[in-house]
Amino acid sequence: MRMNVQPIPTLSERTNEIRRLTAMIVNKEILPNENQLWPWRTNGRLSEGEVQEARELREGIKEKVKQAGLWAPHLPEEYGGAGLGFLDHAYMNEVLAYAAGAASLFGVVAPNSGNQTILVKYGTEEQKRKWLLPLIEGTMESGFSMTEPDQPGSDPRSLKTTARRDGDEWVINGHKWFTSNGKRADFFIVMCRTEDPDGPADRNGKMTQIIVPKDTPGVNVARSITVWGQDSDHCEIFYDDVRVPVTNQLGRTGTGHQAAQDRLGAGRVFHCMNSIGQMWRAFDLMVERSMSREVHGGLLETKQFIQGFIADSYIDIQAARLMTIHCAEKMDSGADPRTDISAIKIFVPAAYHRVVDRAIQVWGAAGVSGDLPLAAMYQGARTLRLADGPDEVHKILIAKNILKRYHDGQGWDFGN
Ligand SMILES: Cc1cc2nc3c(=O)[nH]c(=O)nc-3n(C[C@H](O)[C@H](O)[C@H](O)COP(=O)(O)OP(=O)(O)OC[C@H]3O[C@@H](n4cnc5c(N)ncnc54)[C@H](O)[C@@H]3O)c2cc1C
Repeated sequence: MRMNVQPIPTLSERTNEIRRLTAMIVNKEILPNENQLWPWRTNGRLSEGEVQEARELREGIKEKVKQAGLWAPHLPEEYGGAGLGFLDHAYMNEVLAYAAGAASLFGVVAPNSGNQTILVKYGTEEQKRKWLLPLIEGTMESGFSMTEPDQPGSDPRSLKTTARRDGDEWVINGHKWFTSNGKRADFFIVMCRTEDPDGPADRNGKMTQIIVPKDTPGVNVARSITVWGQDSDHCEIFYDDVRVPVTNQLGRTGTGHQAAQDRLGAGRVFHCMNSIGQMWRAFDLMVERSMSREVHGGLLETKQFIQGFIADSYIDIQAARLMTIHCAEKMDSGADPRTDISAIKIFVPAAYHRVVDRAIQVWGAAGVSGDLPLAAMYQGARTLRLADGPDEVHKILIAKNILKRYHDGQGWDFGN
């Protein structure tokens, strides 16, 4: 089924054009070829020829994306990106995420894309030349190494990995895990507690992000962790007396948390718009199936249980989408979006989880098979509830922000 994307009257011509062009590529190039583009999803054993054919097909679509001016929406034009504004990018994401995996064909591949954004913002010219450009050209891969097995990732201030200043070098010691892209990465951006007794006292012991090439002595990618019972590229890594030049530090000493927040703030809006695109797809699949599958003497669409699924899913998607757009608009206007970011970070993955769950139920056994994107979506939706800050942490933040307003003698203004 094609994604039904029509112009939105309240959006600018430019935003509607971006959505139209994205939908055209999704509908014409990606959806009809999904099984050929990513053949391993439906077929475990592939010949060399099939792998090569899939690669060529993907490269062909990437060319069309570039011609449409949609390549790398997260990057400025000077770095070969589409140079989209924040809202344009958000509105584009709900369209491109309709086809599972399409983001990679538009030049957005996590964690490289997040690392590119951080390097654009915090990198020196030298760092950009050495790490950003190869990342953009696709000649290098990267990872973001923050979470540790022995400390709660939901409380990043507890992280224990240290970088001690020794002359012109940082000496890093720590133990990380769930560093995505760990096997493929050529370098990691590692979150470290920097210890420099000779530096400014107010920055000593604070978090700093440091670029660490994987082939530096002392970097040990110990294993990739199985996720949902399958091999993954989320890795456990030991950093033992790893020495890198101080020039590998990103931004000023002690700005690591701010850089992580920069990465996650806008990223959470983009992730939510992605989830909405995926819910949209699950919804279409569910409705389509209900109109064709006959059980117990009637089509599924005539059964009230199934009508309930359709109605509840419509409500979930609309609520999730409007909440996310509200948050994106607030962020774009420069207003404080923190409460809204936390709210969408909780609500959208949960709504996504419910919508996909219903779609799987309607499809029966086929719903959990690799023939449809639903099983992968279901696992992704569940994972989102704990990655990038688990629900509980965001609920605490929402309550804190709201209570502060009331303690200051104001109520909450839901109109803004
Ligand atoms: C597929 C995947 C990919 C990932 N990729 C990366 C990556 O590339 N780089 C990276 O650095 N990390 C990555 N992560 C790690 C992720 O960011 C962390 O798992 C997340 O931040 C949670 O940290 P934790 O697992 O240590 O859970 P913990 O911090 O131990 O939290 C466990 C649970 O405790 C509860 N909880 C926490 N705080 C409170 C509270 N105040 N009150 C009540 N309950 C609370 C929540 O239910 C939470 O889920 C990835 C994780 C996954 C699953």
